[in-house]
Amino acid sequence: MSAAKRQRSCACCGKAFTDNERTEVEPLIDGMIRYVAVHPGHSTHPPPRRRPAEPPPGTAEAA
Ligand SMILES: [Zn+2]
Repeated sequence: MSAAKRQRSCACCGKAFTDNERTEVEPLIDGMIRYVAVHPGHSTHPPPRRRPAEPPPGTAEAA
């Protein structure tokens, strides 16, 4: 039984999968390694922290 069939809903947003909906499986390490199904593009992992925007070189002190 696939993770998607077992869960029936996205581990990220909680919306139910529809029949034959494409899903992705990602590992979730929660004391043990488990696999959870999510919508494509969804992830239970926190997004990578974005670096603060830096001005292009040469423009910072120009004015
Ligand atoms: Zn989702």
